[in-house]
Amino acid sequence: MEHFLSERINKLSTSQTLAMAALARELKAQGKDIISLSLGEPDFNTPDFVKEAAKKAIDDNYSTYTPVDGYADLKEAICRKFKRDNNLDYKPANIVVSTGAKQSLYNIAQVMLNDGDEVILPAPYWVSYYEIIKMAGGIPVEVPTSVETDFKITPEQLEKAITPKTKMIWYSSPCNPSGSVYNREEMTALAQVLEKHPSIFVVADEIYEHINFSGTFCSIASIPGMFERTITVNGVAKAFAMTGWRIGYIGAPEFIAKACTKMQGQVTSGANSIAQRATIAAVDADPKVLQHMVEAFHRRRDLVVGLVKQIPGFKLNVPEGAFYVFPDISYYFGKTLRGKLINNADDFSMYLLSEANVATVTGDAFGNANCIRFSYATSEDLLTEAMKRIKESVS
Ligand code: PMP
Ligand code: GLU
Repeated sequence: MEHFLSERINKLSTSQTLAMAALARELKAQGKDIISLSLGEPDFNTPDFVKEAAKKAIDDNYSTYTPVDGYADLKEAICRKFKRDNNLDYKPANIVVSTGAKQSLYNIAQVMLNDGDEVILPAPYWVSYYEIIKMAGGIPVEVPTSVETDFKITPEQLEKAITPKTKMIWYSSPCNPSGSVYNREEMTALAQVLEKHPSIFVVADEIYEHINFSGTFCSIASIPGMFERTITVNGVAKAFAMTGWRIGYIGAPEFIAKACTKMQGQVTSGANSIAQRATIAAVDADPKVLQHMVEAFHRRRDLVVGLVKQIPGFKLNVPEGAFYVFPDISYYFGKTLRGKLINNADDFSMYLLSEANVATVTGDAFGNANCIRFSYATSEDLLTEAMKRIKESVS
C-alpha cells in the first residue's frame, strides 16, 4: 500500500536512534534482559524547581494558545541566558521557541533551503540533520573525520567542501555522537574560512552546551563577523533532563526568526504552554544547579572510556562533552564472531543486540560507517554490565 503514500515520505529514512530505542523496548517487553545504550536521553528527573513552575502554570490557567514564537517573558529569559552563558546580545525579536530543538532545526531547513542548495555536514553529525535537510530539498555534503583527529574538521577541509552552491554549514558542539568540543581557537579558524564566503549561514547546535567537561566552550556567533549569519540552536531537553517536555529555541537574525515563526504558525502554532512556563524557570536558573548531573556524566564518561579501551579492536577518542562514546569498531569488519559475519557497523550493532543484549546505534546513521554509538546516560552499574557483556561477546 506504500504507493499511496507521497514520494516525500517514501524517500525519508526512519530515525535510527528512535528505531533502535523502540526495538530495545520491544525486546525488553518480550522479557529479554536488554541494556539500552541507544537513545540519548538523561536518566535524571527534571529538577523540582522546574516541575513546580509547571504545576503553578497549570493552576494559573496557562491553558490557551501561546504566541507562535513563544511567550514574551520566556523570550526575554532566553535572551538573558544567551548573554549570561554565551555573551550573545540577542533581542526577543531574534528568538523563536519551538516544540523541541528538532522542530527548530526543521524550521531552519524549511525557511533557508531551496532545491539543490548544499549544506556542509562535518561527519559524524547528528542523525536527523541529514533527513531534515533532504526534506527541504537541500543536499547534505559530508566532510568526513576520524577517531584519529578527534572527529573534528580542519579549516582546510571546510574550505575544500565549499562550492558556489553552499548555503549553510550545520554542526553540534559538544557533538552528538562524537562528544568533540571545538575550542575558541579551532572555532575561530573555521570562522576565518567562512569570512571569505559571506553568504554561507551557520547552524550552531549548542544543545549539549552544559554537558561539557572540557572547560572550554565557544558559540560561533560570539566570534566577530559571525553573529549576523549564525542561527544558534539550543533547548532544555538535555541539560535539564526535559526530553519529553519538547522545548527548543533559536537565536537568529530577525528575518530568519520571522520566517521560522511563519513556518510553525502553519504547522504546530506556539509550543506547549505549560512547558514554556517551566522553561522560564530552567533558563533563568544558574547553570550551577546542573552540576550534580554534569558530574555524574563526567564520572560515567571516565568509566565507559576506561572499559571500552579494554575491549579488543575498539578505537576511541575521549569525548569532551554530551553523553556518548563513538568507538571505531572497523577492526571487526570481515571477521566472523560466533558464526556471524560482520560486514559493517550495522551488522556489529545488531550483533551486540543479539549476542550481548546491548542496544547501540550504528555509526552509519551519523555519517561514519566505521563506528557505533553508545549513550552513557544510564547508571554506572548498567554501564559496567553492558561493557562486560560486549567484551565477552567479542572475545
Ligand atoms: N540536536 C542534537 C545534537 C540532539 O542530540 C538532539 C536530541 N534530541 C536534538 C538536537 C533535538 O533535541 P529536542 O529533544 O529538543 O528536539
Ligand atoms: N538526540 C537523541 C539521540 O540522538 C534523542 C533521539 C532523537 O531525538 O532522535 O539519541
